[in-house]
Order: sequence, then C-alpha cells, then structure tokens
Amino acid sequence: MPLRLVLLGAPGSGKGTLTSRLLKQMPRLNSISTGDLLRAEIQNSTPIGKLADAYIKEGKLLPDELMAGMVETELAKRDIIDKSFLLDGFPRTPSQALELERRLQDNNINLVVELDVPPDVIVGRIANRWMHSSGRVYNLEYNPPKVPFKDDVTGEPLFQRPDDNPETVRKRLNTYYEQLEPIKRFYQSRGVYEKVGGETIYGYANWRGYHKTPASGDVQRYDNPQH
Ligand code: ATP
Ligand code: MG
Repeated sequence: MPLRLVLLGAPGSGKGTLTSRLLKQMPRLNSISTGDLLRAEIQNSTPIGKLADAYIKEGKLLPDELMAGMVETELAKRDIIDKSFLLDGFPRTPSQALELERRLQDNNINLVVELDVPPDVIVGRIANRWMHSSGRVYNLEYNPPKVPFKDDVTGEPLFQRPDDNPETVRKRLNTYYEQLEPIKRFYQSRGVYEKVGGETIYGYANWRGYHKTPASGDVQRYDNPQH
C-alpha cells in the first residue's frame, strides 16, 4: 500500500525540514506543502495569491473548500492520487480532513504524524528561520546555510517569512492548538494517528510508520506496523 502521509505540527515544528530529510531517503515520495503552494501563488500575483496574502499576513487560515480544491488540483496535475505522497500543512481542520477523504476515496491517508514540539522551542526556532523561494528552510543555529544568508543549491539570497513576526506567530500558534484536538480525534478514529517528539531530530529516527522501497518502486506504508 503506498504511503499517504500527513504531517501535522505547529508552525516551526519542523514539517518542512522533516520533509526534506524524508525526500533524501525516499526520492520517489511526492510532497505537497500548502504553505509553499500559497507562497508561489502570492509571488505570481494570482487571484488566489492576492487572497492568500491577506489571510497569511493576519495569521488566519484560508477557507477549507479553497484549500481542499487546491490540493486536489495539485494531486491531479502531478498524477499522484494513487501513488505515495506526503502532505505538509494540509489538512489542518476536521472539515479539510473530511473534504480530503471524500476526494481521495480508496487512496485515503494511512499515516498521520504529529510533530510534538513545546511552544517555547517553536518561538526560538521561528526567530532563526530563513528560507528560499523553493521552500528550502534553514535555521541559523542548527541548520545554517553553507554561505550566510544564501541558498545552498542556487546561491540566491534567503529571506524571512513576513508571517514569522512574533505577533503573527502567536496567532498561528493559537489557531494550531485550537484545531489540534479535533483533527487528532478525526484521525484517531481512522486508526492512523501517531505522535513523535519533534524537539530533536532523534525522535524521528524511532518512527517506523513507513519503509523504503527499491528505487524502482513506490514508497510503501507498512501493512501491519509494529509499534
Ligand atoms: P510552518 O511555519 O512550519 O511552515 P505553518 O503551518 O505556520 O507552518 P505554512 O504551512 O507555511 O505555515 O502556512 C502558512 C499560512 O498559509 C498559514 O498560516 C495559513 O494562513 C495558510 N495555509 C496553509 N495551509 C493551509 C490550510 N491547510 N488551510 C488553511 N490555510 C492554510
Ligand atoms: Mg512549512
């Protein structure tokens, strides 16, 4: 069964960083980050981008229907609905989770991993976070770029996200913790929920909800995970 993974975690909990690491181990895993998709729309000044800009600046969530449609379009465009995929930043409300389930039908999410990081650690991480327009993220303390403030791959300048200021971060954290319990219950009821300690990278090493497959095959989910 292909791995269909949702990463759940507060802003700055390491979803993007973990995604990059997983992709290094499993290059065939398809990843979608709704935050990165929205930032691309903003950069291209599309109608969705204009709308997204207003919401993101305020630290507010975009409408559920719009987000579900966006992810559905992306899955279709890349033709990966029946392949393995990782979703970062979606779904993040029970209604988004329901919408996703309706759209995926037989290809439903089979693993949800919550990255559990204490809020004080998060605030420190976000203050040190710099990124590249590709979505690559750096942390000045523990994951610095090779050349200060330059992207490792392209050499282009890095920037800080406009929504990474303390006031907006506070709002985003509140929203996250408001939605966490209901979405957790939703996926617990589907029997696919797991939590890992995300404070250090070592928590991830013990996470056994997936396994690698030969380069020729798609990434597979354990049929019967041994937890
Ligand atoms: P991180 O800081 O680790 O990237 P985040 O969840 O705060 O986590 P993004 O996932 O990049 O940040 O999302 C940035 C913003 O885009 C959110 O604050 C929200 O306004 C909007 N957004 C992204 N995904 C969704 C979604 N599934 N539903 C509604 N709004 C979303
Ligand atoms: Mg992110």
